Order: sequence, then structure tokens, then C-alpha cells
Amino acid sequence: MKITRISVYHKDLPLKDPYWLSGGRLKFEVLDATFVKLDTDAGITGWGEGTPWGHTYVPAHGPGIRAGIETMANAVLGLDPRKVELVERAMDLCLPGHLYAKSPIDMACWDIMGKAFDMPIADLLGGKREDGTPAATSVSSGAPDYMMGIINQYRQYGYVAHSAKVGGSDTAKDIERIRHIEENRRPDEIILYDVNRAWTRREASIVMNAVADLGVTFEQPGETLDDIAEIRKVTTSPISVDETLVTLQDACRIAREGIADVFGIKLNRVGGLSKARRMRDVAMAHGIQMFVMATGGSVLADTEAAHLAQSIPSEFIRACWSCQDMLTLDVAPGSGPRTKDGFITIDDTPGLGVTPDEAILGDPVVVYE
Ligand code: MG
Repeated sequence: MKITRISVYHKDLPLKDPYWLSGGRLKFEVLDATFVKLDTDAGITGWGEGTPWGHTYVPAHGPGIRAGIETMANAVLGLDPRKVELVERAMDLCLPGHLYAKSPIDMACWDIMGKAFDMPIADLLGGKREDGTPAATSVSSGAPDYMMGIINQYRQYGYVAHSAKVGGSDTAKDIERIRHIEENRRPDEIILYDVNRAWTRREASIVMNAVADLGVTFEQPGETLDDIAEIRKVTTSPISVDETLVTLQDACRIAREGIADVFGIKLNRVGGLSKARRMRDVAMAHGIQMFVMATGGSVLADTEAAHLAQSIPSEFIRACWSCQDMLTLDVAPGSGPRTKDGFITIDDTPGLGVTPDEAILGDPVVVYE
């Protein structure tokens, strides 16, 4: 089987509400999404998506995905998409780094492999749990009541996991936010306090020690792994790392040095499923739990994350983030798994299990063949 055509689509995905993180330092209103369709000489088609969370969140750039695909297209055409690691190596050889640009092609290859072998991606990853994964919300940073209001909205849809954005130079305000949300947390709810790199080492120490009695988990409480390793020494709260978990080497360092208790694996950030599944295995070998997410995007991106999440035993998976409910546009109405009663559940549909409506995507911005 050979890849015969790469069609690239560009779509803006507006957020329902403006979104702030890092204590209000960063604001987002629309996501720049790239969709990729791979055609093959066997008549099987695969779909991928790459949607960074804006271009100020992590080093990823919407137009950069399309530029990266232009550079890699000739190296990818003609390859067998079922041999995902050969495709991965070809992309790494012709464009070192730029993992976020490779992720949609990797995703489309996994979609084709699943269709070719008549299995859902989660089964190709080793076998899926039959139960779904708790779907997490992403709670924009703001006043304590504003944040509880968002959590309450999502509770109506059954969500039980929430990533509440904290982090700012006003440490007293962060302590107030966390205590207020914890006072109102239901016993079955999973709440992660996501700092998004906003704290200095001093601020992290002040806030985390002030709420140490609550035993809550903090995500990315510092800018770098070196910062988090030092924060770790002077605090006791569990720590998750996502934004600086980029390569397999990062995963190995975090695991061996005990820098974090949870991996937040972002599929677009790390370069797709082929690379993310190795991080999953490192995590399980070291007693590290996981939170899986796309980075952002439509039901396609959420579904890819849900496949990886459902290949992880329940004792190791915390939740997977569902971004689609934050968008005003659905690119695949009636297709794919959706959040139901707070869970996303992958069924036995071969491949990814969701196909975008090409009438909604519009014409491709470029086709390589
Ligand atoms: Mg995070």
C-alpha cells in the first residue's frame, strides 16, 4: 500500500468563550486547525488533525504545520502508511524537530492502518479497555466564583474531571481559588490545578505549601524541568508535567529522577501516537499515571487522544481532555465518539472512527501527489 495523495485543509475553530490561562497572561479566542487527508493506492483514506492551542501557549504554530507538511510531502508520498515507524523516521530525517507538524500525518497513518486491519486504533495500540475514559474540561482562569461557574456548567453534562487554570504573581489569589474550588468539589471529581508554567520557584513554593493539606495535584508548576525538579524538593503535593514533556528523553528523565507523578501527554505536542505510545510505556514502567489530550482541536483530535487513553489500564489513566465542547464549529456532525455522561468511549469502528464533513472543511488549501 502506498500514499498517493496528501490533501491539506485549513479551518479556524472559534472558541465559544474567550479563554485565559497563566493567571490571565494569555488569552485565546480562535484555534488555527489543519486537517490532512491521505489517499492510498488501495482506496483507503485516512484523516489527521493538527490544532495547536494558539501560537503563544507552546512552541507550535498553526501555519507552521502547513509549512512543515510542504517540506515533508515528498518524503511521505509513496510510503506504506501501515508502517507508521518508517513514516515517522522519514519525517524526522527530512525535518528534525517540529513535532507538531508531523502529528496530523502520523494520525492519518494510524487511521489507515486501523481500516486496513479492521481494528480501532486503541486495539492496535495493544488493546482497549471496554470502559470509557473520564472526559476532562479545561477551566479558564479567573475569580473563584467564575471558575466554579464553569465547573457547574460542565457538571450538567456529567463531566467529572476538570483542569482548573491557576498561576499568577498574586499567590494569595491562587490560594483562594484552590481552597474555594476544593470546598465545592464533589467526592467523585478529579480536579487538576494547572499552572501552565506561570509560577517562579518562589511562587510555586508559597502556594503549594499553603495548600499542602489538600493533597491536590499541580500541573506544570514551573517553566522548565529544572525548575520543577527544584520545586519538587521543597513541596509535597503531587506534580504533573505536560508542557515540558516533549520527547521520549524528557519522559525518561522525569521518570528516573522522580520529577513528576503524572505525565500529561499532548499528542500534537509530542508528534503523534507513534511517539506518545512510548511515553505511555515509560510511564507504566515507573508507576506514573497519565492525563491524555490532543493539545486542542475538533472531535478528530479528541478521538485520537481517547484511543490512546483507552489503551491505558484504568489504574494508570486519570482522564482525557475533550476540547470539542469548547468550540462553536463541529467539523464532523454525527460522526465519532462524543462525551456522554462525562466519559468518552471508543467503539469497534476500524481506524480513528471519525471522518470530517468535507463540505464544512471547504476546498483543500494544497494537494501533494
Ligand atoms: Mg496543562
